[in-house]
Amino acid sequence: MTKLIATVFDLHHQVAVWKAKGETLGLVPTMGALHAGHLSLVRAARAACDRVIVTIFVNPTQFNSPQDLAAYPRTETADAALLAPLGVDVIFAPPQDQVYPTGFASQITVSGVAGPLDGVQRPGHFAGVATVVAKLFGMTQADRAYFGEKDWQQLQVVRRMVADLNIKTEVIGCATLREADGLAMSSRNARLSPQARSAAPALYAAMTAVVAAITTGQQPSDTAIKAAMKALHQAGFELVDYLALCDGETLQPSTDLKRPLRLLAAAWMGGVRLIDNIAVTPAS
Ligand code: AMP
Repeated sequence: MTKLIATVFDLHHQVAVWKAKGETLGLVPTMGALHAGHLSLVRAARAACDRVIVTIFVNPTQFNSPQDLAAYPRTETADAALLAPLGVDVIFAPPQDQVYPTGFASQITVSGVAGPLDGVQRPGHFAGVATVVAKLFGMTQADRAYFGEKDWQQLQVVRRMVADLNIKTEVIGCATLREADGLAMSSRNARLSPQARSAAPALYAAMTAVVAAITTGQQPSDTAIKAAMKALHQAGFELVDYLALCDGETLQPSTDLKRPLRLLAAAWMGGVRLIDNIAVTPAS
C-alpha cells in the first residue's frame, strides 16, 4: 500500500520507523505530471532500496516566471495511480508552507557547474533546485536519490552540492527515456500543440546529427552546430537558448574529444521550452 504523506512531521515519523529497523531508503524527487521517465527512476529505486519515497512538489523557487509556474501541469490523481503498482511506500506531496514556512530565509547556491547554460538562461533556477533538494535529503535522510540524466546540468549541480556539503545521500543518475520518435519525455510535452508535438523530435534529430558529424571527424563542432541551428529554425523552433558542446562534468565549453563531452540544448517550440542532452562518444 502506498501511503500519502503531506506534512514534514509525518514524514519524519515514518522515516524514523524505517531507520530504526535498519532499512535503506530511496528517494525520487519529482514535480509530478509523471511519465515513463519518472517511473524508470522509481523502478531503479525499488530495485535497490528497502523503502521508496516519491516526492511530488512543484517547487516555486526554481521557476523563473509566475506564468510558467501556473502553467505547470498538475495531475495528482493520475500520478498516484501510476505509482501504486510500482510498490512505492510513500508519496510525499507537501503543501507549499510545509516546505517554505513563514520566515524561511535560507538558500543554497552552487557556483561553477551551475553558472553556464541554464545558469545564465534561468537566473536563480539552480539555487531553487539545490535548496529544495537539500531540504528533501534532510527531511527523508535518504540513502540514495535518483535523478534523470534528462536534466544533465541539474544532475551535476546536485552531485557538486552533495560533495561540497558532505551529504551522505548517494546520487544515482538514470538514462533519459525517449518517445519512439526520439523526443525526450518531459512533463512539459503535454503543453505542446499537436503541430508542435510533431515538429519537436527535430531537436533530438539535430543533436544526434551534430554528434555523428563531430565524432566521425566529418565536420568541426562549430560547423556542425551551425547546421543544426539552421535545421532547428527550419523545423519550427522559434528560439534556441543554447546548443552547446561542453565538458560533461564542469559544463564548460569544450571540444576535447578525449574528455567525456555532452551536447546540451534548450529550445522553444510552440511556446514550450524543451531541453535535451546527449553524450558525445568518439567513434573508435
Ligand atoms: P521533474 O518532475 O521534471 O522535476 O523530474 C523529476 C526527475 O525525473 C528528475 O530527476 C528528472 O531528470 C527526471 N526525468 C524527467 N524526464 C525524464 C526522462 N525523460 N527520462 C529520465 N528521467 C527523467
